[in-house]
Amino acid sequence: MSKWRLRCEKCSSERVLDLGFNLYEFKKVYLYCPRCQENTPHVVQGVEAPEAVQA
Ligand SMILES: [Zn+2]
Repeated sequence: MSKWRLRCEKCSSERVLDLGFNLYEFKKVYLYCPRCQENTPHVVQGVEAPEAVQA
């Protein structure tokens, strides 16, 4: 599971979602935004606290 940081394109609010699939293949995903109270396009900003990354 990865925590993905997403930003609503409509109201610009950010949220973090636990999702089991790779969002890097998507530029945008349609999700329900509690603030807009409707499904809006969300921009994928990146992974929050990736566990697998160790340099
Ligand atoms: Zn919104």
